[in-house]
Amino acid sequence: AEKRNFTIAGNWKMNTTLNEAVDLVNKIRSGAADFGRVETIVCPPFISLSKVKELLEGTSIQLGAQDVFYEEKGAFTGEISPGMLSSLCRYVIIGHSERRTYFHETDDVVNRKVKAAIRHGLKPIMCVGENLDEKDAGATESIINRQISLGLSGIESADLLIAYEPIWAIGTGRAATSAYANQVMNYIRELLCKILHTGKALRIPLLYGGSVNAENITDLLSQNDIDGALVGGASLKPDQFLSIIRQAN
Ligand code: PEP
Repeated sequence: AEKRNFTIAGNWKMNTTLNEAVDLVNKIRSGAADFGRVETIVCPPFISLSKVKELLEGTSIQLGAQDVFYEEKGAFTGEISPGMLSSLCRYVIIGHSERRTYFHETDDVVNRKVKAAIRHGLKPIMCVGENLDEKDAGATESIINRQISLGLSGIESADLLIAYEPIWAIGTGRAATSAYANQVMNYIRELLCKILHTGKALRIPLLYGGSVNAENITDLLSQNDIDGALVGGASLKPDQFLSIIRQAN
């Protein structure tokens, strides 16, 4: 089998002051010579994007935001538009389970955000995943089907990534087994083939997220339908994050 190019994205969530972000990105940057073909992405808080962009110039490390609003501009206090982000970063996480849960983002909101991001040339990392009750009820596939179908409704572009993040695995130290993750991600791949042209769908990177660390990354990436990882907690620890990237290379 040909060797695939993996994508490793770090989601810093609501962590790091500006100074801490500078410190963290400098430590990650110091390992960038070993990143090889890995598409490495860091997603700091909005306030640090501009500074981190400067620090990443001349490296292969890409920048992403953690969210975006779907309106162009105007009276939406506190929000950030896709046009504001497109000159700063290439990627944007959309529909993270924490946004769906704590900020009541619906599939319709996620869909609007994905469309707005694509319109502005940003690459969405659209997150989907079932919670523990849904998993136990055997509803994983129907939840995923709904989130993907509605999230990508009216979208023909394949210029995006999907992150499969089972909610019960996020921040719990209990990652999904690689076999379980691959099974759901194979379902996602087939769904994408039905929604988009198959050729296009096969080019969409599918990332696994949920307690990824330096110990489980190699096993996860050995699976056919796992093209990379969205990493939360471990992306704040430079040694862990660098080890994950090296193992993906
Ligand atoms: C995430 O929230 O995107 C995530 C995967 O978090 P963690 O790696 O900490 O489980």
